[in-house]
Amino acid sequence: MTNLAAFLVDSAAHRGDRIAVRHDDHTLTYAELDDASARVAALLRDRGVEPGDRVAMTLPNVPLFPVVYYGILRAGGVVVPMNPLLRAREVAFTLRDCGARLVLASPLFADEVAKAAGETGTACLVTEPVAFDDLLRAHEPMPGSVDRTEDDPALILYTSGTTGTPKGAELSHRNLATNTATTAATLVQAGPDDVLFGGLPFFHAFGQTCALNTAVAAGATLTLLPKFEPRRALEIIARDGVTVFLGVPTMYAALLHAELPEGFDAGRLRLAVSGGASLPVEVLRGFEDRFGVTVLEGYGLSETSPVAAFNHPDRPRKPGSIGQPVRGVEMKLVAEDGGPVPEGEVGEIAIRGENVMTGYWNRPEATADAIRDGWFHSGDLARVDEDGFYFIVDRKKDLIIRGGYNVYPREIEEVLYEHPAVAEAAVVGVPHPELGEEIAAVVTLLPGARATAEEIRDHVKERVAAYKYPRIVTFTTALPKGPTGKILKREIEVTDPR
Ligand code: AMP
Repeated sequence: MTNLAAFLVDSAAHRGDRIAVRHDDHTLTYAELDDASARVAALLRDRGVEPGDRVAMTLPNVPLFPVVYYGILRAGGVVVPMNPLLRAREVAFTLRDCGARLVLASPLFADEVAKAAGETGTACLVTEPVAFDDLLRAHEPMPGSVDRTEDDPALILYTSGTTGTPKGAELSHRNLATNTATTAATLVQAGPDDVLFGGLPFFHAFGQTCALNTAVAAGATLTLLPKFEPRRALEIIARDGVTVFLGVPTMYAALLHAELPEGFDAGRLRLAVSGGASLPVEVLRGFEDRFGVTVLEGYGLSETSPVAAFNHPDRPRKPGSIGQPVRGVEMKLVAEDGGPVPEGEVGEIAIRGENVMTGYWNRPEATADAIRDGWFHSGDLARVDEDGFYFIVDRKKDLIIRGGYNVYPREIEEVLYEHPAVAEAAVVGVPHPELGEEIAAVVTLLPGARATAEEIRDHVKERVAAYKYPRIVTFTTALPKGPTGKILKREIEVTDPR
């Protein structure tokens, strides 16, 4: 396989009349998806996209997502998917950093993207429903896919990794194709009769590899839910006969307490997959009892395509554990000094294998920092038991996961520092019953300056995506610091004033 899009070309050749994606009444068969993505490829070539060029996209989970995604890959481009909730300054950073040749945006999110495209001088194409269809019809499908070598980049996923600043994890065709094949064959064990739940955002590694690419590789159907809402999710599970549910822990918690639609029947559901954050054992057990399906937890990161470990379906599983390394992947724990970890002790998870990114885009130093002696250092702390099952203990890095979305404190801190009254700021996650974590900012003000918590909160709210601003803002006279002046976040205690 020399292009990740070969999964689609293959499924279209063997089962062209089967439904590839469904969004309520709108469906695309594999033949239709193949045709539409081949037209996108032709359109991109027409607009000057050359193999290796970065093409950014902002689309929700609608049928056009896979059309555009595979279109970019077929043209030999590198996909740079962006979270639709990003504001113009965040989009501009991404476009500039990856040197995007073109950005495609859904009309729903076009304002912010167009603003960023204007600022960075990037060509922007808005996928207006009728006009974009006409544009595709005006292009003859590009036959096949542009050949790429296995190490050529297929995707750049923006993440803060183990340090603060956002950077692009560069994933090759080999990284993604092998991780998809492993997920499809050994974890989800997907086949053409499966119906996968497409409610995890495809711009993120979990939804993209485990739902989108896995479904396409298996020739299965993907049923889409662009905005997760528990009641809608249950309706779709029953209506479309979903066989495999994939979600983050907050989705599991929401479904556990959601009211069941009348006559609800999840009869075809055979497997539920959780990842992205720790799944509380109580939620796992409650979900299994309520829906009569096994929940298997896995673990991964954007940098590892993402799947690194999983509770395999054909082996005993351990609730509370992220399972064992998957096919083609090795895992070990390393101590703070890089040495081995005594048995039963906590260490940082290091990962080696065909799923590990080639590096961070244009960031040789960050890459050298993260990948040492061929091992990717995850920043996650864990223990391993005598059977080789890993248990996540804590995150070494400061990443906050709020309702399944990653929020990087440093990015928010930078915005806080832009406020004229702020002297110092630290952003931390505080436990939250539904969201997993809530974002809190602890701020010290400049001498003589005044600001209310609301003013500080609104300052950030206006500048970043809605899921990122701190809902809790508190003031202090001094932040705890270590000998080098580094703020010691672990010593910060926030009490929710609400
Ligand atoms: P991302 O790059 O957005 O996929 O985020 C990766 C991070 O999510 C990891 O470094 C972990 O901190 C966290 N994560 C993923 N899966 C799990 C899991 N099963 N349990 C705990 N944390 C997880």
